[in-house]
Amino acid sequence: MFNLILFGPPGSGKGTQSENIIAAFGLKHLSTGNLLRSEITQQTPLGLEAKNFMDQGQLVPDAVVIGMVGNFIDANPGATGFLFDGFPRTAAQCVALDALLKEKSSEINIVLALEVAEEELVKRLLGRGATSGRSDDTNETVIRARIQEYHDKTAAVEKYYAQFDKVVSIQGEGTVESIYDDLKKEIDARI
Ligand code: ADP
Repeated sequence: MFNLILFGPPGSGKGTQSENIIAAFGLKHLSTGNLLRSEITQQTPLGLEAKNFMDQGQLVPDAVVIGMVGNFIDANPGATGFLFDGFPRTAAQCVALDALLKEKSSEINIVLALEVAEEELVKRLLGRGATSGRSDDTNETVIRARIQEYHDKTAAVEKYYAQFDKVVSIQGEGTVESIYDDLKKEIDARI
């Protein structure tokens, strides 16, 4: 298996670039944000629990997210690899993911980290909120809270994988195509 983490703050383009990467490399897309939103739409107990956190721009508890990821991996036994988007977001999630992949005799091969300046992130997210109907993208206070959560908790993820030399930084400002070219080059070099 080839497993990659697409890493970066909210609004850094993970969703957009994930679509390009899974199409080119045949990886299974695992977006915890998308899975959580689908649980909310279906009004499951998990979705109802997660919604309060998401509406405030806070992270959903580790146990909830880790359980959901474990189920997703088990539900895709034939996958040739996964693209993790929006996960892991805390150090505890990194440790849990290593254990889940080890059960499949696999590991994370590369972490691609998209770098985007904060004011550009806020601009992009407000722009997305105006058309997507995502409630956490329409309120600037919630957007700034998500970026703060990213600095407080999620930055630890980059540190975790840096100790294994797995992190490659990619400039996340520019055209979608040029950023994708940079990502593709790094994946081609390792797949
Ligand atoms: P974005 O990265 O643009 O904020 P996501 O769709 O990845 O969007 O996530 C939306 C929200 O879902 C987050 O603000 C958080 O509340 C919750 N969430 C998603 N992934 C995780 C995760 N791995 N751990 C905890 N909470 C998560």
